[in-house]
Amino acid sequence: MEQIWFADGLRFECTQCGRCCTGAPGFVWVSEPEIERLARRLSMSLEDFGRRHLRMARGRLSLTEKPNRDCVFWDRQAGCQVYEDRPDQCRSWPFWNSNLETREDWDSAANDCPGCNHGQSWDLVQIQDQLKRAPDRAEWPD
Ligand code: SF4
Ligand code: SF4
Repeated sequence: MEQIWFADGLRFECTQCGRCCTGAPGFVWVSEPEIERLARRLSMSLEDFGRRHLRMARGRLSLTEKPNRDCVFWDRQAGCQVYEDRPDQCRSWPFWNSNLETREDWDSAANDCPGCNHGQSWDLVQIQDQLKRAPDRAEWPD
């Protein structure tokens, strides 16, 4: 059987630099349970949360962005305002299929994300668990 190249685990710890939460436009897909959790955290009704923080894109719900394209929950001074309740898409980064197919894919992700190869050690089981939460390659727009 072919050996998984990251079988010995990987290191990753978010520095909260914000690179993946700011800048280029993108989508943060959210499920119903995630929306409920975020609305509860912000003490908002689902209706208010939807009006202020959600948009429809490609037939799915995504968080909105600020006019400068930052995620609506990114604060330039304080970082992610919903970090403990962030959606699975954010939570599972960088352990996405697109970053784990080859060592080169991981290195490429690490070029953009200073948390890769630093800090917390993740074993194979933990990484595979994160992979289950990660967005599908097909769901991720180019
Ligand atoms: S780019 Fe990496 S280190 Fe920076 S906020 Fe995103 S996940 Fe964290
Ligand atoms: S919810 Fe938080 S972690 Fe996810 S993109 Fe927005 S600011 Fe970043």
